[in-house]
Amino acid sequence: MHCPTATPGKDELPSFLANASRKVDIYPSTLSKMADTALIEKAKKIFEHFLLRQGSRKTPERYSVLDELYLLPEDEHIDVEGLFLKMRNKGYTISRATIYNTLDLLVESGLAVKHQFKDKVALYEQALTYTHHDHHVCNQCRKIREFSDPRLIEIKESMGKEFDSTITSHSLVLYGDCQIKNCEHLSAANPL
Ligand SMILES: [Zn+2]
Ligand SMILES: [Zn+2]
Repeated sequence: MHCPTATPGKDELPSFLANASRKVDIYPSTLSKMADTALIEKAKKIFEHFLLRQGSRKTPERYSVLDELYLLPEDEHIDVEGLFLKMRNKGYTISRATIYNTLDLLVESGLAVKHQFKDKVALYEQALTYTHHDHHVCNQCRKIREFSDPRLIEIKESMGKEFDSTITSHSLVLYGDCQIKNCEHLSAANPL
């Protein structure tokens, strides 16, 4: 058995689609695909307007961080160090501080979502491709998987009634020890 990846091949249906009899509709909320240029262009427009409104400089470094985030598979979560190494390998001269600051600007402008999982440094993912999802984080190999379970909607509705509250959001992270053998993430595990 090998580790199922979060990026199924184009012609390969993920198991949740192949298995129609499944009672509960739990599914990976996003399917990875190659970043498309239109999306990146849209993100750049939004960023440009944001920087203008803020009176911040439109530096090439900031745009390159945006590019790199949106070139990732859309369900990938990356930290500052990961982005730094990726960009350095591509020949960019950019500091960790610039990446860190730019990611903050991307979060502020609604182009990135920041997560803080237990024992992990902050991780970022694209926001334009984002549909709400929750995460499973493996304690051992650190692999992060996304899921979306409609039962949470029912829980929010019933607890909203119970607490006489309009529930506006939720966050759920499941931590567990996955049983994936030879997981590719184990060797690449964050040594934290
Ligand atoms: Zn694991
Ligand atoms: Zn995610």
